[in-house]
Amino acid sequence: KREDVPAAVHGIDPSLVDGRALDVVHTLKQAGYEAYIVGGAVRDLLLGLRPKDFDVATNATPEQVKGLFRRAFIIGRRFRIVHVVYGRGREHEVIEVSTLRAHLDSADAEQISGNERTSKHQLASVKHAVDASGRVLRDNVWGPIEQDAARRDFTINAMYYDPETETVVDFHHGIRDANKRVLRMIGDPAARYREDPVRIIRAVRFAAKLSGLGFQFEAKTRAAIAPSVGLLADVPQSRLFDEMLKLLQTGHALASVESLKANGLARGIYPLLDLVVERADDPFVRSALQDTDRRVGEGKPVAPSFLLACVLWSDVRAGWNKRQKAGLPAFPALQEAVDEVFESRIGDVSGRGKLGADMREIWLMQPRFDKRTGATPFSLAEQPRFRAGFDFLRLRAQVGELPEELAHWWETFSTASDAVRYDMVDAIR
Ligand code: ATP
Ligand code: MG
Repeated sequence: KREDVPAAVHGIDPSLVDGRALDVVHTLKQAGYEAYIVGGAVRDLLLGLRPKDFDVATNATPEQVKGLFRRAFIIGRRFRIVHVVYGRGREHEVIEVSTLRAHLDSADAEQISGNERTSKHQLASVKHAVDASGRVLRDNVWGPIEQDAARRDFTINAMYYDPETETVVDFHHGIRDANKRVLRMIGDPAARYREDPVRIIRAVRFAAKLSGLGFQFEAKTRAAIAPSVGLLADVPQSRLFDEMLKLLQTGHALASVESLKANGLARGIYPLLDLVVERADDPFVRSALQDTDRRVGEGKPVAPSFLLACVLWSDVRAGWNKRQKAGLPAFPALQEAVDEVFESRIGDVSGRGKLGADMREIWLMQPRFDKRTGATPFSLAEQPRFRAGFDFLRLRAQVGELPEELAHWWETFSTASDAVRYDMVDAIR
């Protein structure tokens, strides 16, 4: 079943491999362990893409890995992985190293908890761990490479690359599927979605990410999605929220929306995501999604607060207009409208304080762009969140909600020298 595929066959360009990932693999192998680049990075390498991050799999335990590197940190208590850190500050890079894990189905997991002869209390907490995150218990048992491969999701995500011998280790015909542009779940798709329903969302995400390269679902992988959607109800909201962000922020937001629609997931993953899909054709939201994809493509950072502020802007604006018509001044009217939207739409992200605070700030900055006299523009341009507020303003201008002149003025003002700034303020009125 195991196939060791040489460079002449897989054709991976070694220059696409990150030097730090090479160093991690080299160090581990020198110490006598097995080590490979694994998962999404191998998939991207095979497709000729430069991976955005590199994961390494090894048969060394987290403690053994930690002992081999100067700056290595064991992350997590239940799901233990090692972060090997290179460089400092902005330039720093993390290679994630995980120990090869056993593939156990749910029945095996029950067995383990039984064999441990644990107290009732411990047993309950083990069961709880399985229920709460599905894979926790299973993910804690080390195992041979073929089992590590079997627990992964798609055939193209389950390959191991040794950059020193340039060999790809392939157990599930990942190379064949990559060449045929097929997205195929390992094993029985329905069972794999049941085991971890988040794989449904991952399927949609990879379909979106790879559709540009001509990838299509294998028939059963696709057919099992729609009947499995209900399983997502058991997934913790926080995990669904994170998956939503991955759909929206990994450079294929528009394609992901299409993929959600095409696979019967237009509704039901997460309330805010339902709204994104519903409003994806609205010019303002569409521009925001396009902008996000473009920024990610250029390697620029994107903030979830910005996109979500865009998605909910029509609600805020409606409430704002209503209150102004009723006689409330602009700023308190906006504040009330924002509060209302927070209550009705984003109660579920209230635990994410910073995200909510950033959204609020973007919205509440909008009326301040109207004041272009006195000291106001100077202090606004110095605000730490000015850029996000301004980008939002520019999108509003782009869809005709505001005069283009206003956005252009702020763009110029924010980068101008003080002398020019004073002159610009002088020219207003
Ligand atoms: P991306 O390029 O978007 O990061 P990726 O394939 O690297 O894609 P990750 O979420 O980083 O995706 O996961 C790394 C690897 O771990 C995957 O390639 C896959 O082999 C495995 N994996 C991750 N999540 C799951 C899951 N829910 N079920 C099975 N395997 C998974
Ligand atoms: Mg990854």
